[in-house]
Amino acid sequence: MNITDYKGIFVFAEQRGGEISNVAFELITKARELAAKLNVRVTAILLGSQVRELSRSLIAAGADRVVLVDRPELEHYLTEPYTQAITQIIREKKPEIVMIGATTIGRDLGPRLSARLMTGLTADCTSLDISDEGHLMMTRPAFGGNLWATILCKEHRPQISTVRPGVMRKNKLDFERQGEVEEFDVKFNLDNPRVRLKQVVQEEKSLVDISEANVLVSGGRGVGNQHGFDKLRGLADKIHAEVSSSRAMVDAGLIGHERQVGQTGKTVRPDVYIACGISGAIQHLAGMEESEYIIAINKDKYAPIFNIADLGVVGDLHKIVPILTKKLERGSES
Ligand code: FAD
Repeated sequence: MNITDYKGIFVFAEQRGGEISNVAFELITKARELAAKLNVRVTAILLGSQVRELSRSLIAAGADRVVLVDRPELEHYLTEPYTQAITQIIREKKPEIVMIGATTIGRDLGPRLSARLMTGLTADCTSLDISDEGHLMMTRPAFGGNLWATILCKEHRPQISTVRPGVMRKNKLDFERQGEVEEFDVKFNLDNPRVRLKQVVQEEKSLVDISEANVLVSGGRGVGNQHGFDKLRGLADKIHAEVSSSRAMVDAGLIGHERQVGQTGKTVRPDVYIACGISGAIQHLAGMEESEYIIAINKDKYAPIFNIADLGVVGDLHKIVPILTKKLERGSES
C-alpha cells in the first residue's frame, strides 16, 4: 500500500429517519480543523433513501463535498449494505482519514469497515490531531481510564476513528457555503443477506438528554441520599438546569444511568457545570472537563475536582445548595 495515494478527510454523516445526527456535525467541524493542517478537502458520506436534501446542511456545516448514495436498500441502517456502500466509496476515493460517530450504528459500522479494508481503527476517541509527519493522532482513555493513549496508524490507510458524541464542538451552520454533491453508484451484493429487517420499533425517548442541557447541577456521593438530590433539584429548577450525576450515585440506585456523566456515561459540555459532592475521578472528568464554566462544591479542599474548577466552594453542600437556592429565589422576586 502506498499511503501517499490517500488524500482527504471523510466523515460518515449518520442520519436516522432523515435527521442528521449531532455527532456528524461535530465531526465535520473537527474535520475542517484537521483538513486545514493537511491542506485537503472535507467530504461527508451520506447514505439513505430520499435523503439528498440533507446534503445542504452538511455543506453548511463545513463539508466541501457530499458523496451521496440514495438507494431504497439504505433506508434503515443494516450492517451489510452500509458496509458495502462505504467500502466501495473508500476504495475508489481513497481518503486518508475516515471519521465516524461512536453511536450504536458507528460502533457497528467502524470495525466492519476496518476489517474489510484491512486497516486500523481507534474506537471511542476523545481527541484528534495531526502529527508532524501528517498522521492522525487518535487519543482515547485506556486501562479503565487510568491513562490516555494516543494511537497512530502509520502503515495503513485510511486511518479510521470513531468519536464519542458530544466530545467535539460543532460550528454554526452557514447556508451561504458552497459545495458539490456527487452521487455514487454502488453495486450491492445482497443476494444472500444474513440479516433481514422485519420491523422498526421506535424506542420511547427518555425525557431528558443531559448532553443537550446548558446548565447541569451534578451530584456525587457527597449528596448522600434522595433527600440530598431533592436539594439539587430545587436549585436546578431555579436556574432551568438538569440534574446529572457521578457513577457512584447511579450505582447506588439513586438516579438513572441516562443521567450519568463520564467515561461510561455521557459526555457533556454545558455552559455551566455545578459539581456537588463529586471528588473528580478521572473517569468523571472525561465526561465533563470541556464544560465552559465549572463550579465545584466539596467539603474536602484537596478534592481533585478543584484542579479543573473555575470556581471552587469548600464546604458542606447540604448547607450551601439550599442557601444558594434561597438567594436565587429572592433575586428572582425582586
Ligand atoms: P467519591 O469519589 O466518593 O467522592 C465524593 C466526594 O464528595 C468527596 O470528594 C467528598 O469530599 C465529597 N463530599 C462528601 N460529603 C460532602 C458534603 N456534605 N458536602 C460537600 N462535599 C462532600 N465515574 C463517573 O462519575 N462516571 C463514569 O462514567 C465512570 N466510569 C468509570 C469507568 C471505569 C472503568 C471505572 C473503573 C470507574 C468509573 N467511574 C466513573 C467511577 C470513578 O472512578 C469514581 O469512583 C466516581 O466518579 C466517584 O464518584 P463521586 O465523586 O461521586 O464519589
